[in-house]
Amino acid sequence: MAKGKFGVYGGQFAPETLMPALEELEEALEKYGRDKKFQEELNYYLKEYAGRPTPLYYAGNLSKKLACRLYLKREDLLHGGAHKINNTLGQALLAKKMGKKRLIAETGAGQHGVATAIAGAVFGLKVEVYMGVEDIERQKLNVVRMKLLGANVIPVSSGSQTLKDAINEAIRDWITNVEDTYYLFGTVAGMHPYPTMIREFQSVIGKETRRQIMKKEGKLPDFVVACVGGGSNAMGIFDEFLKRKVGLIAVEAGGKGIQSGLHGASLSAGEDGVFHGMYSKILQDKFGQIKTSYSISAGLDYPGVGPQLSFLVESGRVKAVSVTDKQALQAFKTLSQIEGIIPALESSHALAHVIENKGQFKDKIVVINLSGRGDKDVNTVAEEFDLK
Ligand SMILES: *Cc1c(COP(=O)(O)O)cnc(C)c1O
Repeated sequence: MAKGKFGVYGGQFAPETLMPALEELEEALEKYGRDKKFQEELNYYLKEYAGRPTPLYYAGNLSKKLACRLYLKREDLLHGGAHKINNTLGQALLAKKMGKKRLIAETGAGQHGVATAIAGAVFGLKVEVYMGVEDIERQKLNVVRMKLLGANVIPVSSGSQTLKDAINEAIRDWITNVEDTYYLFGTVAGMHPYPTMIREFQSVIGKETRRQIMKKEGKLPDFVVACVGGGSNAMGIFDEFLKRKVGLIAVEAGGKGIQSGLHGASLSAGEDGVFHGMYSKILQDKFGQIKTSYSISAGLDYPGVGPQLSFLVESGRVKAVSVTDKQALQAFKTLSQIEGIIPALESSHALAHVIENKGQFKDKIVVINLSGRGDKDVNTVAEEFDLK
């Protein structure tokens, strides 16, 4: 297969000025990807600092209600509250080995910005995070968090003043400052080698899950279900099961309903095109202009998706479905009250799919990747349910 290609998807649609930086990154991956010392050092931080391995919890109460055997992979228990730290620790350590002094990142909801700020602090690297003015206004708490962690938040006022514009600005910065700067991207999208590298850093989720389910059930699960924004928590848990007989389900943000146009369902409703340096499924109009995505969960609000997921859906290996805001909110409430676990609104999408289609999962072993915790979402949910 050609470099960074998944069937027709992926690739490296990068400006000429960025090629040296991408080549330097590929060389570093070549060197450290197989380096035992690097892996040991990363594992040390994943374990002692981030809290791995995370439990695979048998959700007995919800299992009873749904008549299946439901397990939750508890990425919500990690330091920072989500799976994102698996990736930021990996890339920040790599940046340090490469001799870089400064990390830059893009962020939408602020979650990836916070995870990057954490990794920068622990490895002693300066962090600057690009964030749309609109998002800064909407996500004040994460802006304060990033600042407390010592990061500088750079407001982006171009375009729609959201995530996709923040990515454009970060790439511009990288081109100018490639000497001392590492671009720490947040999900399995963008140009090669990011989709592959980030999948590798997140694949620890699936590796642990397989070991844990074999120990608890003595066999593989029937289904593994994960929510999809860019696709990093999904690819992180799917990777280990791709070549095994396990049903893989990717749940996207249906927002206010796919027909309404207000959603983030690139796999279900996108069309092939180039965006942020990759060929993938993209929400775009008939002229190729990127459409604005929408979801109640900011982490799923992205008009593109990782190229490997596009390939896996197109080839039939992964099934793509979508869940509306309303269904996700209901699942958020259900898990909180039945299991005492407040999930992220993103992860609630994966839960909602299983709850809404329980007949399909009857008597099956189902693993849901609980990608994050819902503390960040309580204001949104309180407003929706009139709890204030
Ligand atoms: C960011 C985020 C997501 C979406 O990102 P992916 O790259 O698709 O995993 C999902 N869940 C949580 C909790 C997040 O913070």
